[in-house]
Amino acid sequence: MRHKRIALITGANQGVGLQVAKELVANGVTVLVGSRDSTRGEAAAKEIGAGAIALQLDVTDQASITAAAERIRGEFGRLDLLVNNAAISNTRRRAAESAEDYAKSTHPSVVSLNEVRAVWETNVFGVVAVTQAMLPLLRESSDARIVNVSSAVGSLTLNADPAFQYRAIFSPVYSASKTALNAMTLALMIELESTAIKVNLVSPGYTKTNLNGYRGTESVEEGSREVVRVALLGPDGPAGTFTQWENETIPW
Ligand code: NAP
Repeated sequence: MRHKRIALITGANQGVGLQVAKELVANGVTVLVGSRDSTRGEAAAKEIGAGAIALQLDVTDQASITAAAERIRGEFGRLDLLVNNAAISNTRRRAAESAEDYAKSTHPSVVSLNEVRAVWETNVFGVVAVTQAMLPLLRESSDARIVNVSSAVGSLTLNADPAFQYRAIFSPVYSASKTALNAMTLALMIELESTAIKVNLVSPGYTKTNLNGYRGTESVEEGSREVVRVALLGPDGPAGTFTQWENETIPW
């Protein structure tokens, strides 16, 4: 029998992360509910119930990341599953601004580099920093997996196709941050393929969450389904995949 697994999900206080946390706990996993805001993390852990433990973790704050890793080492001595889920889509879209106007402001010819840097800080460098801090704990596990949550909108292959439906919104801010995340993930997959640590890349469906102003077409339950499936893969489950739905691979 597999031992009770210990998982960390970043940005698990709402949206896809919260849904994944709920389903992992329902499957017997002990889940550290990462949240940059302690109060929101505590509320989410309480909502999930026994098996969920709030963990303050801001992926852009090295001190917070280091403290989280030290706490996990002290309490559990290892980590079996890391779900790098936390992300932002923008920092400056004003409530009054339409999605179209914001999209225009992110065209490469005019985009604010501060906006690019801020989004990449969370979506790309935050993932690298958290992964580096958690790898020593994952190496203590006999059945370790890292699941990075990306998006089909970051696929260069899809965006190079004039027929791709989200091509018009391919921008240096969010979409390209996911392209960069895909590249970082591929580099990690290559580094770890000779070890026991498995790495997968996954995209939720287009899900109604705060990230897109609740304009997504899928419920959180449905949109999170593939993230949950991959996070629950057993020791014989594959590594190196990039999927959106079961058996539906996303081209890099
Ligand atoms: P969401 O509801 O906005 O949740 C994002 C989570 O990330 C929140 O808990 C947020 O915390 C957290 N977060 C943001 N910055 C953080 C930081 N610096 N440190 C720690 N946590 C931070 O968005 P979502 O839709 O669930 O997104 C989850 C993942 O799915 C993301 O990687 C996103 O890119 C990906 N995705 C989503 C969709 C979709 O349609 N929704 C599609 C494809 C991919 P706060 O609550 O404090 O803001």
